[in-house]
Amino acid sequence: MPQIKIDAARCAGCLTCELRCSLRLVKAFNTAKAAIEIRRNVQSADEYRISFTDRCDSCGICVRYCSYGALTQEKNGGI
Ligand code: SF4
Ligand code: SF4
Repeated sequence: MPQIKIDAARCAGCLTCELRCSLRLVKAFNTAKAAIEIRRNVQSADEYRISFTDRCDSCGICVRYCSYGALTQEKNGGI
């Protein structure tokens, strides 16, 4: 599946992506079990840092539920 692009400057830290991802992976709302990680930056222009763990398979659920445009994904492989 196409990789997910990050625009951390748009991230509001709402954690909806983590919650939706964990619901898919472990059938429960548990941000610690998500394959996407949102962390607050201490000294950076962007307030939040977004990263993915090895468990991410680019399913795109987090992209669909991010209301702030911080996550995007090419639908057709980006060709
Ligand atoms: S693409 Fe899917 S597996 Fe990867 S972080 Fe988003 S919801 Fe989780
Ligand atoms: S990436 Fe989107 S859904 Fe996830 S915390 Fe940031 S604004 Fe919220």
